[in-house]
Amino acid sequence: MGGETPSQKKPRSDYPVLAPKPVGQLISNIYRDRINQFYSRGQWEKNNLLAMMDEGVASGEPHVHLWVWDAPYLTRPTFKEATSHEFKKTSVGAWVGPSWSTHWFKVVLKVPKDLADKRLLELHWDANNEGLIWSEDGNPLQGLTGGGERIEWVLPESFRDGKEHTIYVEMACNGMFGNAPGGDSIQPPDPNKFFRLDRAEIVAVNPDARQLYIDVWIIGDAAREFPSDSWEQHKALKTCNEIIEAFELGNPDSLKTCRKIAEQYLGPNVNSAKVYDTGKEPVVFGIGHCHIDSCWLWPFAETKRKVARSWSNQCNLMDQYPELNFACSQAQQYKWLKEIYPYVFERVKKKVAEGRFHPIGGSWVEHDTNMPSGESLVRQFLFGQRFYESNFGSRCQTFWLPDTFGYSSQLPQLCRLAGMNRFLTQKLSWNNINKFPHTTFNWVSLDGSQVICHMPPSETYTAEAHFGDVKRSISQHKSMDQDNTSLLVFGKGDGGGGPTWQHIEKLRRCRGISDTVGLLPRVHLGGSVDDFFDKLELKADTLVTWYGELYFELHRGTYTTQANNKRNNRKAEFVLRDLELLATIASVKDKSYKYPKKDLDDMWELVLLCQFHDCLPGSSIRMAYDESDEFYAKVFETGEAILKDVSKVLGFSEVKTASVADGVALNTLSWHRKALIDISEDEAAVACGQGPLLKLRTFKTSEEKPAVELRETSDGVFILENAQLKVEVEAGCVVSIYDKAADREVIPRGKKANQYVVFDDKPLYWQAWDVEVYHLDARRELPCGKTKVHEQKKHRVSVVTETKISDKSSIETVISLSAAVDGQQSSIDVASKVTWHETMKFLKVEFPVDVRSTEASYETQFGVVRRPTHYNTSWDMAKFEVCGHKFADLSEHGYGVSILNDSKYGFATTGSLMRLSLLRSPKAPDATADMGVHHVRWAILPHQGALGPVTVRKAFEFNNPLRLVAPTTGAARGAAALAVAESPVRLTEDSSQALVLDTVKRGEDDEDVSRGELPSKKGRSVVLRIYDSLGGRARGTVVTTWDVAKVSKTNVLEDELEEVVIKDGRFAVDLRPFEVATYKLHLA
Ligand SMILES: [Zn+2]
Repeated sequence: MGGETPSQKKPRSDYPVLAPKPVGQLISNIYRDRINQFYSRGQWEKNNLLAMMDEGVASGEPHVHLWVWDAPYLTRPTFKEATSHEFKKTSVGAWVGPSWSTHWFKVVLKVPKDLADKRLLELHWDANNEGLIWSEDGNPLQGLTGGGERIEWVLPESFRDGKEHTIYVEMACNGMFGNAPGGDSIQPPDPNKFFRLDRAEIVAVNPDARQLYIDVWIIGDAAREFPSDSWEQHKALKTCNEIIEAFELGNPDSLKTCRKIAEQYLGPNVNSAKVYDTGKEPVVFGIGHCHIDSCWLWPFAETKRKVARSWSNQCNLMDQYPELNFACSQAQQYKWLKEIYPYVFERVKKKVAEGRFHPIGGSWVEHDTNMPSGESLVRQFLFGQRFYESNFGSRCQTFWLPDTFGYSSQLPQLCRLAGMNRFLTQKLSWNNINKFPHTTFNWVSLDGSQVICHMPPSETYTAEAHFGDVKRSISQHKSMDQDNTSLLVFGKGDGGGGPTWQHIEKLRRCRGISDTVGLLPRVHLGGSVDDFFDKLELKADTLVTWYGELYFELHRGTYTTQANNKRNNRKAEFVLRDLELLATIASVKDKSYKYPKKDLDDMWELVLLCQFHDCLPGSSIRMAYDESDEFYAKVFETGEAILKDVSKVLGFSEVKTASVADGVALNTLSWHRKALIDISEDEAAVACGQGPLLKLRTFKTSEEKPAVELRETSDGVFILENAQLKVEVEAGCVVSIYDKAADREVIPRGKKANQYVVFDDKPLYWQAWDVEVYHLDARRELPCGKTKVHEQKKHRVSVVTETKISDKSSIETVISLSAAVDGQQSSIDVASKVTWHETMKFLKVEFPVDVRSTEASYETQFGVVRRPTHYNTSWDMAKFEVCGHKFADLSEHGYGVSILNDSKYGFATTGSLMRLSLLRSPKAPDATADMGVHHVRWAILPHQGALGPVTVRKAFEFNNPLRLVAPTTGAARGAAALAVAESPVRLTEDSSQALVLDTVKRGEDDEDVSRGELPSKKGRSVVLRIYDSLGGRARGTVVTTWDVAKVSKTNVLEDELEEVVIKDGRFAVDLRPFEVATYKLHLA
């Protein structure tokens, strides 16, 4: 209370008493819309900023000379081959084509005197298609996209000397997204597209104009996208308008003035990577990326060039922008680069060593995860990680799969076993029913293994690095209670070449805004994906969890489309499984036999490549499937050759007929097997035993008590009956299955199993990919023709039925029942031949069963996934079509029915109705998808008890029938007989039947096997993969006749983790539910 009066300092002001003039408020929408006019094409382009983008242009001769050589017949010749030809003179305006053809341009550039000293000289080349610039001496330098995108190539300093300099442009007649005829890129390609060379000129770029362009773009975005109740939005609007006012057409100094104004909003550092050095904590971490589909709207052959174009670009950009870090996946693409473009590969390798280029993903390709077998997923990682380790010195830590169509439930376990504990994806943001609730979380496998999963909240893996992408990286972040950081994966995909200079310049400005004005999340460049996850890992125990599959609520048609390709996949997986087992046995048995590692690797690499996420799912164009057909043909051909060699060592050859005395059955499954095998046209034998060669016994049957019978009870109605089942077939459908031991009817009264149904199948857009929920409303039962006797043998009876689908399409179905084999569950086997020429129709076969459960089970990799059979919630309903492998099962307490198949992946179970999806007929992107003849087999397997080993084993056996072979020589006969008696490695009879010994192979780096990519290891070893198939603790004993010195439990990369005690050729196996275990047996 001092009584002092505070001195009130009045600001000096000449504020006039009288208002000199009226001043209005900015009418925001008009002043906002005006910003665009400042830098867009169209009627303003000669009078706005665009008019000042260059300081001079030189086109035509004598500055730009052009010659061309057209490669014949859609070939893609090498540089050497192409440049050995005579080139003919050409010029801008020339048309080239057709689609998919290649044209080599020889370009001779002479920089005119008046441009020689300009600040930035570029070649602008635009033929509206993809291209690759080569140096005169044959080094690939940089990719071009065309159509106004990535048309610039910075001229080397040496070109300023006024002399002529030669480069080549390898032009591919396709755009970034192939050759669709109009604006809809998923339509089948037009084979007759031609492309015009619009531009080939030397341009002296005005760097101030270019920089100002990005300034205004980003500040304009702030004016457009910041909330109108923020001062930051108003300031952005004002800044833009001040810039536009300061701009004087034709006055280069005004550009500098404009940029000074922009600085008020962007800060002073946006012209360099210094902008990131403010020491302030960022939340959004940008990483450059180029998602290159290994095939899709173009063939695999074109992808090899896309890789070279894209990655050489990135190496160039890294030289210009020190903050650019780039991550790219798919070991296969690195391998292509290494083999075809060693110059680019060396550049990439150097950038990898500098820590700028990040090989990521750990897998061979970005594969589908729904359909490949468990062992295929293992091999994706094994082949991927081994490539990365041998070429770049380290393995990947992050599984990278931004674009695949759903993620199966064993992936976290397999990732952990492949040395990865992080996973990145974002495809679930495409769900069209439920929104996935997390951004960053722990994803938990069937066995309980976990990985840290991050789904970039910008919801894209090809971000254009827009202001909005940075903003959404926080505004759409769903896990901010746990962690507020996110990845921004930016860069053009599919041949667009990854990040562009525009992307990097835009991000500099975004960061400038965050540190100068605020409000925008602070973005950072210069780190790696691993850096990002390293920080997340510290908080991993606080992250929320998601158990089980990451089901993708879209693209459900991909379990069915391109049936032939899927069939080949299943077949190839089994062929490889068989060959590895047999070749392992042969190589241990006979040291002179060399384990065919190279052939097996080659086969695997092709199979893994075809599991790419647009190939196996069926979403590519015809050309890609013509290629994959060739790949599979090669796989099967190599497989046959390996089998021939192996059979020589093991002493057998395949035969069509044999007697019980001189035949044996070739078996590659690990359990005791007892089954019928055809030994001649009319005769069968019983194969029984364990091991690769099973002895045959006479199949005994009596006249009084036939083992299986066929009776026609009334016209076209048949009873098929054996000791276990009595099956009634009427008009092609199974109307009754009576299980004698269970005293139970399987088919509900009045219902028909094996009923074909056709649905209208017109999804909202993505034809090959999607089947939409409403297809279920347009169900049509197919009426069958008259059923007739097909086969009536002592060991098997069958009936055949013709079903008409339409005037063009039909099905011939053989339903058979074999004699029951003691101790084996009988099934009703169906073989169909479908002639299919439909348009936008979906063919399925239905099995109503008298079983009630709210959950059905489907085989997935190394286990079983359970899904609802009801539509309680939208999450349940979204699973109206799901993926399964060799079986689907519906079981209640005490009883159930499994549906087995030999080549299908699409299923649905609704209430008590089970449905197997057979064929679709989408017309884009392959108009001929699935047209033609298909052979499909399935089986109805009723069983007592819940889903159990009966189904698991039967499904394997259904996909892996016994083969009739005969010992080759008298001497070998003894050997074969010996082999019959001995299984070199197996699980003992008292082991849990849930255990499956799935894979038997040689150690990757054994000295007699190694191909030298990684250091070889002394001695010989055999690797076993065993899993618990049913989800309970599974104990057992492995017994081997091999002389084993030591056993180790390993991960799937075959790193030894712990030693396992082996005594008398036996060691214990003790697995947690759905665990996948790998053991390495070191042979003495
Ligand atoms: Zn993709």
